[in-house]
Amino acid sequence: MNSSDDELGFETRAIHAGQAPDPTTGAVATPLYMTSTYVHSEPGVFAGYDYSRAGNPTRAAFEHCVANLEGARFGFALASGCLGVTTVMHLLEQGDHVVACDDMYGGTYRLFEDVFKKQGVDFSYIDLRDPSTLEAAMREETRMVWAETPTNPLMKLVDIERIAEIAHAGGARLMVDNTFMSPYFQRPLSLGADLVLHSTTKYINGHSDLIGGVVITDDEALAGRLDFLHKSIGGIQSVFDSYLCLRSLKTLAVRMRAHEANATAVARFLQDHSKVEWVAYPGLASHPQHELARRQTSGHGGMMSIGVKGGLDAARVLMANVRVFTLAESLGGVESLIEHPGLMTHASLSEERQREVGIAPGLLRLSVGIESEVDLIRDLDRALGKI
Ligand SMILES: *Cc1c(COP(=O)(O)O)cnc(C)c1O
Repeated sequence: MNSSDDELGFETRAIHAGQAPDPTTGAVATPLYMTSTYVHSEPGVFAGYDYSRAGNPTRAAFEHCVANLEGARFGFALASGCLGVTTVMHLLEQGDHVVACDDMYGGTYRLFEDVFKKQGVDFSYIDLRDPSTLEAAMREETRMVWAETPTNPLMKLVDIERIAEIAHAGGARLMVDNTFMSPYFQRPLSLGADLVLHSTTKYINGHSDLIGGVVITDDEALAGRLDFLHKSIGGIQSVFDSYLCLRSLKTLAVRMRAHEANATAVARFLQDHSKVEWVAYPGLASHPQHELARRQTSGHGGMMSIGVKGGLDAARVLMANVRVFTLAESLGGVESLIEHPGLMTHASLSEERQREVGIAPGLLRLSVGIESEVDLIRDLDRALGKI
């Protein structure tokens, strides 16, 4: 099965794309091809693979399947989401300029500011909610627009279609970090993006037991260059982690539906709670970009941020008293997590920068898992009662 099987449903492709039964044994599940090298029948003649940094059948099955789910032909699985960022950034050269959203994954921001800036790439960070700010920020040297939607942690949305038009008019590519939505809820390439990135650590693997990333494109020229960078930089995903990600894709649809159902219930509960100042969840009608969310995504996922009344002290009480929610960084796993972006995931941002982007002391980020809805709500209710 390949990416031309577009008429098949998402769930079907998640289970079958790139995964024909093993030709030698008939194994239905894609085997772990634990090999670094492959036989040549004579020098330079081999059956598709020569060295596992360049290609491995287990990794290739995952790459095909995840690319197919994003509506694309080319996927590159990497050892982490950050290696995905690094590999994509090597598409650029000294003197190039990138416009990125101001509210983004802290590790991506750190790579931009502390690694790629030193190599001569320049960055502007803007609020991409308003497309006219992008028009103003584009320069002659702008080669890439980097968007996350929803953003992390403030759950702001970016109109992918509109941003893609502006980026392309200025001669830049659009990269969308689709980690928060997964291809089940949002497919940026179909809206005009050129590249999609996932930290597969999150929803794609979904079980909080590995670190991984994937970069996807349907553009042949970009794919050729990415293939070169992937094998040259060598940030490939291990065979075993590729196998786990491939296995996880099979349940992506059912997991995402369960995440969304629980998150919707939790968001509604929190929005009415007297200790909660605000809830940012794109699925709520109160989200200022709810209409865009409905147009651009087929659902709203499991991520939200909330502001508790009473600032940092109140946030600490809530974090100390949850029992079903786990106090931990990361997101997208089957278990519910709570964290404080100011002190944890976004601690690498200066206090001033945190204030600028709106990371307040009472801000908490929730990754709602797929446990029983009633247990999650009871847990939050009890912990909020201690404030
Ligand atoms: C986690 C994350 C990353 C980085 O991925 P790693 O797998 O941790 O290297 C990038 N973008 C987003 C939105 C993330 O949540």
